[in-house]
Amino acid sequence: MALCKRRGFVYPGSEIYGGVANTWDYGPLGLALKRNIKKLWWQEFVKKEESVFGLGGGIILSPKVWEASGHVENFTDPLVECKKCHHRFRADQLDAKSCPDCGGELSEQRQFNGMFRTFIGATEESKSIAYLRPETAQAIFINFKNIVDSFHPKLPFGIAQIGKAFRNEITAGNFIFRDLEFEQMELEYFIAEADWEKHFDYWLKKLRQFATMSGLHPDRVSEREHEASERSHYSKKTVDIEYDYPFGKKELWGLAYRTDYDLKTHSQKSGVDLSYVDQDNNKFFPHVIEPSLGVERTMLAVLCDAYWQDEKRVVLKLKPALAPIKVAVFPLSANKPDLVKKAQLIYRELKNADYDVAWDDRGNVGKRYYAQDEIGTPWCITVDYQTLEDDTVTIRDRDTTRQERVKVANLVSWIKEKLLES
Ligand code: ATP
Repeated sequence: MALCKRRGFVYPGSEIYGGVANTWDYGPLGLALKRNIKKLWWQEFVKKEESVFGLGGGIILSPKVWEASGHVENFTDPLVECKKCHHRFRADQLDAKSCPDCGGELSEQRQFNGMFRTFIGATEESKSIAYLRPETAQAIFINFKNIVDSFHPKLPFGIAQIGKAFRNEITAGNFIFRDLEFEQMELEYFIAEADWEKHFDYWLKKLRQFATMSGLHPDRVSEREHEASERSHYSKKTVDIEYDYPFGKKELWGLAYRTDYDLKTHSQKSGVDLSYVDQDNNKFFPHVIEPSLGVERTMLAVLCDAYWQDEKRVVLKLKPALAPIKVAVFPLSANKPDLVKKAQLIYRELKNADYDVAWDDRGNVGKRYYAQDEIGTPWCITVDYQTLEDDTVTIRDRDTTRQERVKVANLVSWIKEKLLES
């Protein structure tokens, strides 16, 4: 957490005003890491798939959506309050019978809805209530017919969305693990009912692959199937992908078989027929498999897994594809104009080639290496006196610390190749 703050990944939310629990602001490097996670997800779950369509549904939907989906009634957690210090806890996450903060007596439990409420328009009355979406999925279900009418996809096909979701969480967050505001990467994959197990297995496998691609060590990733009593109201089978965080094994991502619950309910409640007609003129509600991934939980797992330390250095051994900065460029010495000029040219060229590039000319090269190691930059390029003679530079590898000399003319393709290999 200290590294994340110091180096510009994650800042506590509204810190100068004393902070707001479970909220965070993202600095330039955190933002880049999140962007790279989302890019990798989009590439794997949308672009590489045969028939997955993107959607940008709204954060504010008609409140009728959340009534129909069951969230107004069921998206609740059991809440208890300490009668002495008035701190609130989720009853299902408490082992103790008394308040963990002051030992006081706890109240009876009551259900607490996790959706944030707001009002549309100028009046704050019940008929103008709206909710901030607690998941991106519902916008997908209510646009199902739009996608079918525009693109006429054959089953199976998917609709995917990345976007903010909001939950009024009352338990302590464990850094960015549990937030009031977070981003989800969700896919609703529409299938014929008979095939649900096959597709469930396919997406489970895909999630395992995505964990590996994100650099998570397989020993720290596990799967846990939900008991019937634990499953959400819409699900017939749910498997959590769990990660072994420093604070315990916890849900990283979820995979749910949502059946035809959502399309059916929205058809009934809206009066608009959301069924599907196949090539043989059979009319039915497709069933749905949903992999749902949180960007911040992924980022936290990625950071925990990548953090490495020995007596000399702290290194974020991030997968190069996720690293916020791909390459740093240094002139050996800041007060040698020839070296600075040449290094600037290389820096510009790599930036123009669309890489995230850092520049550093402070202190000695050793210190600059350590500074880049700490933020996970895979490669550092140094322009030295030999560069001026033979147009080669040294490239130093973050993990092995080994250096090699590469022709300046080959730099762009060298980096491209290394990115593809990793
Ligand atoms: P939990 O049991 O930990 O509250 P959940 O089962 O309610 O999580 P889902 O409804 O399955 O979570 O949401 C899908 C994904 O969205 C989760 O696997 C997680 O990656 C992410 N997510 C859910 N809630 C939060 C949150 N408050 N902060 C950050 N990410 C979240």
